[in-house]
This record gives sequence, structure tokens and C-alpha cells, in this order.
Amino acid sequence: MIPVKEAEEIINSITLDTGVEQVPVSEATGRVLRESITSDRDLPPFDRVMMDGIAIRFDQWKQGRRSFPIAGLQKAGAPRQTLRNGVHCLEVMTGAILPGNTDTVIRYEDLEITEKDGSAIATIQKPPKARRQNIHAKGTNRAGGTLIVEEGTVLSSAEIGVAATVGMPQVKVSSPPRVAVISTGDELVGIDQQPLPHQIRGSNSYTLAAALRELGIKARLFHLDDDKEEIADKLGGLLSQFDLLILSGGISRGKLDYIPEMLEQNSVERLFHKVRQRPGKPFWFGRSVQAVVFALPGNPVSTFTCYYRYICPWLKRQLGMQEEKQPVAQLTEDYTFEKKLTYFLQVKISQSPEGIMQATPVKGKGSSDLANLCLADGLLELPEEKNLFSREESFSLYLYRPMW
Ligand code: AMP
Ligand code: MG
Repeated sequence: MIPVKEAEEIINSITLDTGVEQVPVSEATGRVLRESITSDRDLPPFDRVMMDGIAIRFDQWKQGRRSFPIAGLQKAGAPRQTLRNGVHCLEVMTGAILPGNTDTVIRYEDLEITEKDGSAIATIQKPPKARRQNIHAKGTNRAGGTLIVEEGTVLSSAEIGVAATVGMPQVKVSSPPRVAVISTGDELVGIDQQPLPHQIRGSNSYTLAAALRELGIKARLFHLDDDKEEIADKLGGLLSQFDLLILSGGISRGKLDYIPEMLEQNSVERLFHKVRQRPGKPFWFGRSVQAVVFALPGNPVSTFTCYYRYICPWLKRQLGMQEEKQPVAQLTEDYTFEKKLTYFLQVKISQSPEGIMQATPVKGKGSSDLANLCLADGLLELPEEKNLFSREESFSLYLYRPMW
């Protein structure tokens, strides 16, 4: 039996090469960017008019001119016009390129426009503050060639907009690994079935598949009965078709817990079996030539804990995500755990007035109590070296829902 830290180190020593693919930017939300996004031109690419109104020469205002005959209209999306006569003005629309020979924009709200002899004259009612007011200067958001989004960023709507604006209809992202999620156990029936009194519906595969979806991975689901022949029969195929196998159940000391033995028989090298933790002590980890194998204890909270504590952070790294600092949270009350095991405490998260993450224990009824997970937000890792965990002490937090 090894401690949590060592289990983590062994897992992190194994890599999975996920490869890279091009996807349309419209389908890239949540994916991990595997190239950088750079501005292809200045942003904005031209001196951009920020208000509907008129464009004038500021020196004309300075010299006392208040009324400007309107010589034409500069629309957004039209090539740049030039003001021929400096005592005139051009009407300008938001998003238009600033006309040549003008340097100041006065918005309609600060003008009065009158008709005289069939031509329109704009008279300034409110003094302009400065030359170049209401003009967004070329390149002031970002100069052309500036790095805007770094490789390894998880794409959100903010980055998608940037990719669109710099002209990237396709982006390079990590390919998801091929993942098989495999439940085991004769007592399990499908979720569309009515279980007999001695049966239960298998839930772990759905939990794991849903968790993998959060990383953009679509897993395939399988089931194995507690039958040596069947396991032997199917494992080989699964190991050759998938990059990653996540099994649940069948790894403890039960008479029918065949999984570790059958994995080893199928040339999966055991890297560890059993971790000094609760829940999830029987956790088994190994790898074959082609595949990485996590075999998790079947109790739903154990499966869940092992996924979020070990598999999720490891997968994020394999997908090339930028490393985040491990969040910590402060206990809001004393907590005792007597065993010499790392304890993963289910906690509800709140924020202190100072903005510190606070963790309130939400004690469930043990590792089968998956309903309790709905009341909490994350798992607080209470290290095995201690038994008393005091209020206001901080510990590593593994969140399983986005906060705020
Ligand atoms: P095992 O690890 O196979 O000894 O299973 C431990 C406990 O978890 C047993 O009570 C199983 O019925 C339960 N269990 C195993 N697999 C699943 C599953 N896929 N969904 C829900 N419960 C499960
Ligand atoms: Mg079982």
C-alpha cells in the first residue's frame, strides 16, 4: 500500500500522447488549444470612428468655426473618403474608417443639423474635449503580430471570438484519447431496467462518462460480468482498441474480484495496487504497451474520488492544458479522522468576505452514498500524517463543479 503522493507521482510518470487535430472554431469551445493565436493585423486595423456624428478638422474648431457644411457620408464598411475642404465636415458612422483630412469626431448628440438652400449644416453645441476624441486609434487594442492566446489555453467564448477576429476558421486542438469505461459486477443492471431485489443499476459508467465529457472526451461504455472467462475474453480486445481504460469494481479481496489478475494476465504491468486513502483504498493502476489502465474500486464515491483526485488532473496534463495552481480551501469547522489514511472529505464551498475559499464538511454515509455528492462541491484532501484538522486550516481542494 502506497501513500497518495506516491500514487500521484507514479501516475504522472506515465504519459499518453494525444495528438493534435484541426476543428472548426465554432466547435472548439472547451478544447485545449495547441497553437498560439496572434493578431494578423493591428486591432483595430484602422482609425475607427466610435460614434455616429461628423468628422472635422480640430484646428477649424480652434480657430472659432462652429458650423460645418456636410460634404458627404463616410459609412462603416466603405473605403476611406477624404475631406476636400477643411472648413466642411463629413458625416461618419460608428465603425467607419476615419476620413482623410479629419481628426476629430463630434457625436450627433452634441450637434444641431439644419438645412439651408438644400444643403445640410452641422453646428457644434458642445465643445469637443480634445483633438482625436471619439476615434479609436489603429493598433491600440493590440498591435499586429501580438500573441493574444497562448498554447494550452482551454478555449472559452472569449478566445473563440479572438480566433474569429484574427481569421482562424480552424484551430489546432488536442485530440481526445480513445477511452473505454468498463463497469464490472453481476449485481449491476442497465439504467433502463427494473432491478430485482438483489440487483442495482450501474451508475459508475455514467458518472465517469459525464466527468470525461467535461474534458471533451466521449468515452465508450462496456460491462463485464464477474466471470473469469468473459473478462479474459474481452479485456484483450479493449486493451488493443483504446488508449485509456477506466474500470470500476472487481479489484478488492472478493472471491470474484478477478480484474487485477486478469489485467496482469493480459500483459498489463501493475504500477501500484492499493493506496493509503479513504475512500478508494483498493485503487489499481497499470499500463500495457498501448494502453493506460485505471481500475477503480466499485463503490460510487470511491470511483468518483479516484477520478477527480487522480485521473482528471492527469488527463488535463495529457491534453496539454496549462498547469493551474492547486486550489486550497479553509475548513470552517474542526474535523477529526483517526485512521492513518489520507481522507477525502466532501465539502461545500463558499467564499469568505475576504474572498477566501471556505470548505464546510458535508458528511455522507460512506462510499456508496453517491446522493451525498450532490450536496457538496469538492473533495478536501486531509493528509494521513494528522488526525485533527482545525478550523481555518487550509488543504488541497479537488472541485468537481465550476465555482462562481
Ligand atoms: P466492488 O468494488 O466490485 O467490490 O464493488 C463495491 C461496491 O460498489 C458494491 O456494492 C457494488 O455493487 C458497487 N458497484 C460496483 N460497480 C458499480 C457501478 N458501476 N455502479 C454502482 N455501484 C457499483
Ligand atoms: Mg464487484
